Amino acid sequence: MKAGSTQCEAHVLAEIRQQLQTLPRGLRTRFAPSPTGYLHLGHAASAVFVWGIAQSIEADVVLRIEDHDRGRVRPGYEKAILEDLIWLGLMKTADFFRQSDHWDRYESQMEAARSRGLVYACTCSRREIMERTGEASHDELRYDGHCRTRGHADHHAGLRLRLDPMTCAFDDLWTGRQVQRPDEQCGDLLIRDRDGNWTYNFAVSLDDAAEDIDLVIRGQDLLPATGRQLQLRSIFGVTKPLRFLHHPLIWESPERKLSKRDGSTSLRHLREQGLSPAMILGQAAHAVGLLDRPEPVAAPELKGLFK
Ligand code: GLU
Ligand code: ZN
Repeated sequence: MKAGSTQCEAHVLAEIRQQLQTLPRGLRTRFAPSPTGYLHLGHAASAVFVWGIAQSIEADVVLRIEDHDRGRVRPGYEKAILEDLIWLGLMKTADFFRQSDHWDRYESQMEAARSRGLVYACTCSRREIMERTGEASHDELRYDGHCRTRGHADHHAGLRLRLDPMTCAFDDLWTGRQVQRPDEQCGDLLIRDRDGNWTYNFAVSLDDAAEDIDLVIRGQDLLPATGRQLQLRSIFGVTKPLRFLHHPLIWESPERKLSKRDGSTSLRHLREQGLSPAMILGQAAHAVGLLDRPEPVAAPELKGLFK
């Protein structure tokens, strides 16, 4: 393993491996794809981290289908995701959680927060927030609290959760110490949008708590979301400690994160091209710098990348 990788320098990897081996056995981690497209090489890379680390520290992996955004979910993708994970050899049976089976969880926690005066309806569009705050559209938009005291009805409105100033610090197993201030980054958090969809941060925080997750392994694109998820845990009284590892992503170009829109890297397509599961896992591991060369790695051998 490897000198000269841009994403995983040898000494960094060695240190991370060592740190991983100090974790307790029997932790629970999760893989949480959204059924909004086919799995692609970026997902395979994430899966290499999740299952590889889990094998190496004897953790359990839970699959969660993140279909909270009904506007973006398309029929057929959930089944395709399960098939792909089984074909890759990562899962034996299609055993999983699905967010849309838990609307009552989101509803009841929202109502509980509302009864504490923490939730309010917000009628602002993105454009209106941008006009008021002068923030550019490519930046993360900080909500300015405009509707906090306006007493709007829920109808056709989004719901926001009040985020008071709170410093959220955590030691990421890959990227080290992180200190975030959600109230300054995003302001009061949209927990349900105007179409009635529960939002990612809200749903995922409640799910990680309810499904007893104690290790979150996911891409570094979600690093800025972690502070607010920790703040949500604190608001909802979740005391179980949660560890994080935010792994490097496969970058297609410096500007553009590899996304599921790029059909050319869908696992289905690679499979049709004749690649085996081990070849795909090896390519994914190589693309994030875990392997010098894209040599095949069968699913049960992924632990070798982290030991
Ligand atoms: N559902 C998210 C995705 O597909 C992952 C969320 C998470 O791991 O917290 O990127
Ligand atoms: Zn508003």
